[in-house]
Amino acid sequence: MRALVVEDEAKMAALIRRGLVEEGYAADVARTGDDALWMARATPYDVIVLDLMLPGRDGVEVCRDLRDGGVWAPILMLTARDGVEDRVAGLDSGADDYLTKPFSFAELLARLRALTRRGAAERPAVLEVGSLRLDPSTRQAWRGETEIELSTKEFSLLETFMRRSGQVLSRVDLLEHAWDYGYENRSNVVDVYVRYLREKVDRPFGRNSIETVRGAGYRLRRDGGD
Ligand code: CA
Repeated sequence: MRALVVEDEAKMAALIRRGLVEEGYAADVARTGDDALWMARATPYDVIVLDLMLPGRDGVEVCRDLRDGGVWAPILMLTARDGVEDRVAGLDSGADDYLTKPFSFAELLARLRALTRRGAAERPAVLEVGSLRLDPSTRQAWRGETEIELSTKEFSLLETFMRRSGQVLSRVDLLEHAWDYGYENRSNVVDVYVRYLREKVDRPFGRNSIETVRGAGYRLRRDGGD
């Protein structure tokens, strides 16, 4: 396992690095966000420990840059104990987990083990399918530069489609992901909401991204209808 530690304070960085090396990790230290970015692009790290408090761009911005730059290594963010907003911003920027300072090294290691089990699959914070974009953290959706107003249910349905673009989803699949057990018990509820969604994400833009697959269900085209 190879880890990258992003921390500007030399003492803290050395402490974390030494602990990781004792645990059998190969560990490198980056002192700035820029260093972290080029190192993580050049080396396929298994996990990144990213301090939120960095000079210049902070950990949230660095995290976003890493994800935008195609770096999908699991990221554990280190934050201040009372920084609820920081932790939320960190997770929404693409971090996988956080640990508040001061932390116990045993917990740091346990969290890194949990993260490395997940691997480096792509898991963008903002979903993109063609010109469709959806940000689950702000609950906003766009077609190109135009923001689309969606109801809670429409948003949930679009998110379900976007997380599985190109796949045929049955009405049952869509019900299971976008509705809870309290859904209006109408057999055609999915068809009704797909129609609403098309009226908002496709028709005004002259697109046809949500296809009906006869006898099977619906599919969001991988190109988003572009
Ligand atoms: Ca720091």
